[in-house]
Amino acid sequence: MITFEEAYKKMMAHSVPWSVETVSLDMALGRVLADDVLSDMDMPPFNKSAMDGYACRREDLEHPLTVVEHIPAGVFPTKAIGSRQCSKIMTGAPVPEGADCVAMVEWTEPVTEQTIRFTGQDTADHICLKGEDIQAGDCVLKAGERLGPAHVAVLASVGCVTPEVYRQARVGVIATGSELVEPVSKPQPAEIRNSNSYQLCAQIDQMGAIPQYYGIVEDQADAIHRLIAKAKAENDVILLSGGVSMGDFDLVPDILKENGFELLFESVAMKPGRPTVFGRSDNRFCFGLPGNPVSTYVVFELMVKPFLYQLMGHAFCAPIVTVTLDQAVKRRKTIRQSTLPVVFTGPRTVSPIDYHGSAHIGAMSKAQGLITLPVGTQEIAKGSHVHVRPL
Ligand code: AMP
Ligand code: MG
Repeated sequence: MITFEEAYKKMMAHSVPWSVETVSLDMALGRVLADDVLSDMDMPPFNKSAMDGYACRREDLEHPLTVVEHIPAGVFPTKAIGSRQCSKIMTGAPVPEGADCVAMVEWTEPVTEQTIRFTGQDTADHICLKGEDIQAGDCVLKAGERLGPAHVAVLASVGCVTPEVYRQARVGVIATGSELVEPVSKPQPAEIRNSNSYQLCAQIDQMGAIPQYYGIVEDQADAIHRLIAKAKAENDVILLSGGVSMGDFDLVPDILKENGFELLFESVAMKPGRPTVFGRSDNRFCFGLPGNPVSTYVVFELMVKPFLYQLMGHAFCAPIVTVTLDQAVKRRKTIRQSTLPVVFTGPRTVSPIDYHGSAHIGAMSKAQGLITLPVGTQEIAKGSHVHVRPL
């Protein structure tokens, strides 16, 4: 058994991003940039009015001003502002030469048909200066960034319509276990519904990789062998659940080896998740995850997810909040790092939730975060600060 940290390091050392492709802007959400993006222009591209009003000279604000032009957004002004002159201007329109402020329309009144007067005390400039947000040539997004809606907006604003992104990882999912039936079936005595595959596919999908489900395979060596071979040929990474413990029918690690995978670890000091297996065969990878549903959930979050992200060029860093534990957590054995589900009981407090162990997937559906008890830690006292990874 190796520590979680050792296992993590070993696994991540093999996760190197590979090929790159371009996507259209409407397909960019969730993808990882493979190249820095530079702006092709200043933003704003011209001195831009931030208000509807009158562009004029600040020194003239006490005097009636003659309106020389109307400037809607999208039209470039043709007249410079001279002494005691102004142009009616709309938000987003270029500010004319000679003006150094825009008086908001709410603070003006007409004097004659061609003149207006400023009625306020003072005014801000209300001008967004050319290049104040971004200058032409500035790096606006860095390689490795995972694209969210705001990143897509930045790409659009600098004209990067076919961003270069890393290829998505294809991830095959196999459920092993002779007791398993698909969720549409009512389990017979001694059977259980396969929940892991659907959960794993959802986790893969949510993080921006491509899941492919291969079905349930019985605890029967030939059948497992064939399905692993097929999934290996068609994917970058395969995830198996079940069949990695010490039972008579836990055949997965040996069959992974027979399929050419070198296993880099087969037991990790984590709870849940001890019998987790990780292997490599050239540019193909496999994880054998213990079958209990909370184990597959937690091992995916703690190991598979950062591995897949790094494979896709993104250095994933789970958000962590530090809050107060309002109920003690205790355990007897401390040789493994332990992960426990918690809920927020207030903006700065969490409580452990009723959790019966690694089969209790219902507890995970109620959990709002995970906390970790490190190796050697028996108790976290009520009132302690804990690091919570929100879910
Ligand atoms: P195993 O790791 O194969 O020893 O399985 C451990 C426990 O997890 C057993 O109680 C299995 O019935 C259960 N289990 C295994 N695979 C799945 C699955 N795909 N969905 C739900 N439970 C599972
Ligand atoms: Mg099994």
